[in-house]
Amino acid sequence: MDLRGIVDEAHDAAVRLVGTGRQAQSIPLLGEVPLDRLGVALATVDGEVIGAGDCREPFSVQSLSKVFSLALVLAHEGESLWKRVRRQPSSLRYDALVQLDVDHGVPRNPFVNAGALVVVDRLMAAHATESAAAVLELLRTESGNPAIRIDERLAASERGASHRNAAAALLMASHGRLEHEVAELLDRYIDQCAIAASCVDVAQAGLFLARGGLLGSGRVLLSEREVRRLNAVVLTCGTYEAAGDVACQVGAPVKSGIGGGVMAVFPGHGTLCAWSPGLDEAGNSVAGMAVLEEVADATGWSVF
Ligand code: GLN
Repeated sequence: MDLRGIVDEAHDAAVRLVGTGRQAQSIPLLGEVPLDRLGVALATVDGEVIGAGDCREPFSVQSLSKVFSLALVLAHEGESLWKRVRRQPSSLRYDALVQLDVDHGVPRNPFVNAGALVVVDRLMAAHATESAAAVLELLRTESGNPAIRIDERLAASERGASHRNAAAALLMASHGRLEHEVAELLDRYIDQCAIAASCVDVAQAGLFLARGGLLGSGRVLLSEREVRRLNAVVLTCGTYEAAGDVACQVGAPVKSGIGGGVMAVFPGHGTLCAWSPGLDEAGNSVAGMAVLEEVADATGWSVF
């Protein structure tokens, strides 16, 4: 299969969508990222890396980081996590609060913000509170890029605008669901979201999801069964209220972040990351999603 041709074509076809949608407005600095960017990178389980466009420009990974923190927590404590957070898709926005109170402070899934906060709470317990450092380390090691870092300015920008996440954390604390102090938990969550990495970095770092849980070193991060389940949660919950449509369009687990990054996992084949800052209503990159759909179509890598 001519993967280089497929990646180039998907990139070129999505160029017409660049500029569609809006940058995330909830974090002031994200609103200033130029809309005209489009990057694509495919990392295959055979070790090939194929990039196009702005594939080496670091962007704010935001909620893409949540797959990595979840993988680390599952590796550490296994299934007991699912007592604290459910595995149900949500039709509400990722930062919705209503459902959380109705559900007695147990989030719908680990990718809505409340659920991701619970995952960070567990990761802090596992890593003497240095949860963001653990995620950063995983990304650096798996991508082979030690220059991946936390964008401190971006983190400061989110810190000044994190009322909804603070509200979610306080609500969970009121139900007795958190182990750590809300202020520290929010800090670690924001640091993790503010990691800046490129499409090439993210595609390579996410390869263990396509490789049955094996890290680049050959070490097992997650068993095949665990990674299958993790991918199921990514498929059903990774793109929030759009997950049903995305499952039809791409036919594979997809995670998005409001920095405009999207990552698709094609088990047994590879991991694809696209980035373009213009988002649709659900907070998913418009051009990025088009790239994933195009590559899934052309390769026939749908899990269905
Ligand atoms: N840091 C962002 C927030 O909490 C992440 C949201 C996202 O990428 N969907 O709002």
